[in-house]
Amino acid sequence: MTQSNPPTPPKRLVDRDVHGHTPRGPWAEVAEAQWSDWRWQQRNRLTSLTDFEGLISLTDGERAAFEACSDRFRVAVTPYYATLMSPDDPSCPIRRQALPQPEELEPHPEDRLDPLGEEAYMPVPGLTHRYPDRALLYVTHHCPVYCRHCTRKRKVSDPSSTLAKRQLDTAIGYLRDHPEVRDVLISGGDPLTLSDDRLAAIVAALTEIPHIEVLRLCTRNPVTLPSRLTDDLLDKLAPYQPLLIHTHFNHPAECTPEAARCLRRLADRGFSVANQMVLLRGINDDAERVREVNHWLLRQRCRPYYLFQADLAEGVSHFRTPIETGVEIIRALRGHTSGMAVPHFVVDAPGGGGKIPLVPEYVTGRDDDHLIFENYAGDTYRYPLR
Ligand SMILES: *Cc1c(COP(=O)(O)O)cnc(C)c1O
Ligand code: SF4
Repeated sequence: MTQSNPPTPPKRLVDRDVHGHTPRGPWAEVAEAQWSDWRWQQRNRLTSLTDFEGLISLTDGERAAFEACSDRFRVAVTPYYATLMSPDDPSCPIRRQALPQPEELEPHPEDRLDPLGEEAYMPVPGLTHRYPDRALLYVTHHCPVYCRHCTRKRKVSDPSSTLAKRQLDTAIGYLRDHPEVRDVLISGGDPLTLSDDRLAAIVAALTEIPHIEVLRLCTRNPVTLPSRLTDDLLDKLAPYQPLLIHTHFNHPAECTPEAARCLRRLADRGFSVANQMVLLRGINDDAERVREVNHWLLRQRCRPYYLFQADLAEGVSHFRTPIETGVEIIRALRGHTSGMAVPHFVVDAPGGGGKIPLVPEYVTGRDDDHLIFENYAGDTYRYPLR
């Protein structure tokens, strides 16, 4: 009998993005088993100025900002994410996302502690119910890496604000009592900082509620700690489909082979993965960067979903771009590249109005019975109104 091997897939479909490893820099000697163990990564996070001094040449401004900011909003970076930092370039997109910059201390008149009014729409602690049929549950306030642009700086990284077990039970009870909620986002902080069993128990409890039809798990671990998405964890979560994953890639430097393998593992296990990018000044505020990340995401079967205007959170204003920037990025993408690579550009209305989509204006006029509009290439067309 002849042995039949499975057919070899065409090379171009499998070869790109996933091979190789990101260089480990100062951790070159660490054994592979440790480096790829997320617990080791968590235990060895860089948290103090001294930790970073050994890795990169900090500017005086970064040093001063670190000392002034790190007790207000903690600094923590996994060794994996730290290897993506440029040692010499202070404008490095990874450094700017993870290390305090002097501008963080400059207040802006429009800044708010709770820019999205998440506390105002909180019927019980740990749950925001703003939209008619969906709710957002905060299950932890910890993350492997704390992003300086985090909109929940007021509580993320603060151990005293983490939800107690009893409060979580109350929040789940609220969902049980509200049959209009059919979609629950599990967020934080980063829910994957919980243990596998704890997270699976929360997912299981939500799945028990008959009117909840979709769960969404919001995690930046594919970006900051891709090894956290272990086979064990996926085995525990896979039975609870539809469990959609929302992640948060912002820059091409985050699009590593490790991250690509992580996203493909999720897709292979049946998870639908979407990306929520935050528009950050000097980091990804041009169409070329956004397109590069989004093309890469599609190759890993992750759908670019939202592009967020940076919120009016305290200490985030140096990241904020003019509103027009986001609109122009969408204009540069729509029609010019795959529609699947074009996210929705949204502004979260201050005070709790929810997400407002902003789109480029394609309608240039109308006459009695026609709409006049432009296509992506700037050509004019007329279309009957009815
Ligand atoms: C963003 C958000 C959601 C989910 O919004 P979608 O547009 O459905 O992705 C739900 N609740 C709150 C409070 C949110 O901020
Ligand atoms: S991973 Fe998300 S919740 Fe955590 S600091 Fe970053 S943006 Fe905030």
